[in-house]
Amino acid sequence: MLLLDEPVSALDVSVRAEVMNLLAHLRAELGLAQVFISHDMGMVRQISDRVAVMYFGRIVEEGGWRDVLADPLHPYTVGLRAAVPVPDPTIDQPLTPTVVGEVPDPVRPPTGCPFHPRCPHAEDVCRADLPPLDEVRPGHRAACHVAARTERSEAVR
Ligand code: SF4
Repeated sequence: MLLLDEPVSALDVSVRAEVMNLLAHLRAELGLAQVFISHDMGMVRQISDRVAVMYFGRIVEEGGWRDVLADPLHPYTVGLRAAVPVPDPTIDQPLTPTVVGEVPDPVRPPTGCPFHPRCPHAEDVCRADLPPLDEVRPGHRAACHVAARTERSEAVR
């Protein structure tokens, strides 16, 4: 297994493409598993079979890349996806940040869900209880009280 921590983030585009091709070759020829850590959602989409999104040291969402990136469950993933620039001048993208506020102080972590001070959907339960990373849809897990409840209520309709 190869653990790759931001392996192409500081490279120019042509070298980046060479490294990505090399990684694809290693996967195909040697069957190597690769854990690819990145802030670049486009790169994650290009290379991944499964995606895990981390916030404040915990996995908050995990699943197949299509599920996580095309239809995210966790509000943090929703904000990350909305922040990816779209290279199309005809599309009106918001200029304001999609996730406001700062990452909490690890010395004084918030109670309950660590994302609640920044989450537009936070409720009382979020401020009290840490949400477990549960399978909310088949093969798609999220650590969010509201996402889990919303999916459950849609499933019984
Ligand atoms: S558990 Fe609550 S605060 Fe945390 S991400 Fe979900 S809705 Fe937001």
